[in-house]
Amino acid sequence: MIIVLKPETTKKQFEHVLERIRALGLKPMVSKGTERTIIGVIGPEDALRVQPLEAIPGVEKVMPVLKPYKLVGREFQAHDSVVDVKGVKIGGKAVVVMAGPCSVEDPKMLVDIGKQVKAGGAQMLRGGAFKPRTSPYSFQGMGEAGLKLLHQVSRDTGLPVVTELLDVRDLPLFEKYVDMIQIGARNMQNFELLKEVGLTQKPVLLKRGFSATISEFLLAAEYILSEGNFNVVLCERGIRTFETMTRFTLDLNAIPVIKRLSHLPIIVDPSHSSGVWDYVAPMARAAIAAGADGLIVEVHNNPEVARCDGPQSLKPKKFAALMKDVGKIARVLGRTL
Ligand code: PEP
Ligand code: MN
Repeated sequence: MIIVLKPETTKKQFEHVLERIRALGLKPMVSKGTERTIIGVIGPEDALRVQPLEAIPGVEKVMPVLKPYKLVGREFQAHDSVVDVKGVKIGGKAVVVMAGPCSVEDPKMLVDIGKQVKAGGAQMLRGGAFKPRTSPYSFQGMGEAGLKLLHQVSRDTGLPVVTELLDVRDLPLFEKYVDMIQIGARNMQNFELLKEVGLTQKPVLLKRGFSATISEFLLAAEYILSEGNFNVVLCERGIRTFETMTRFTLDLNAIPVIKRLSHLPIIVDPSHSSGVWDYVAPMARAAIAAGADGLIVEVHNNPEVARCDGPQSLKPKKFAALMKDVGKIARVLGRTL
């Protein structure tokens, strides 16, 4: 249910509406637009049917939300959300690119790659310290030591860092060392994990599960917002189809569809979706052309020896060249890089 307040509603009336919602055992979530204040009502809404909220002074109308997701929807907030990651704004006019290795491997490689992606034009550093590997015998990441390295390189380069959280027990470490928490494709429907990151105010990068519909993807984001964390950026990273020439199939449709349905920013991962470095640049360019708010790209200075995802990693020079093209496409669309 969404409650639209009258433009002239006073602060006292507004507080009274919130009180009434809470008294019914429901949770109010407020969206303040330039002209109107909207209150999203979370919880079992049956109570609202017998309590006519329209009668409360200051309330203009009460509308049912027909879509299953509420807070992530455009009905709740018409304007685009901009998520601020330590000064880097995602979802605004500027396209934002996050780049770095699949996994943090050792201090020197991370320092070198950090400098190289920054020189190429990246605004954020990526790198996994906890890796969700398909096989238990593959490199699982450096863990806490990896987080500390990311934190150090982030301080040295000035690039905010995004890295994946696999286990709620590591959340305190992420609060300390990380600027943006990534929830990976394999955990998109780990609802307990979503609720826990929802209880923080850390920006979250939520990647689409490779078998998830767009509706399921938005409902996963809804879990985070419903706990109070609105700093969510979505990431399309390819879905499973019958095609085997690429690792996954990048669903470019998801960009305009999500732009229509939701106010949350959406970025694209052309690395995991294609699985082949040679396809990364064309798909990255296509994503920006289709309206994505940014990219997350795997870059490695020696992909041959990478401990994870070498075949899909761009070398720094190729990454810098891609950034030039991305800048040109962004400008055609009235955006910047
Ligand atoms: C990653 O970004 O390192 C990763 C594992 O991505 P995904 O969850 O999309 O597979
Ligand atoms: Mn990877």
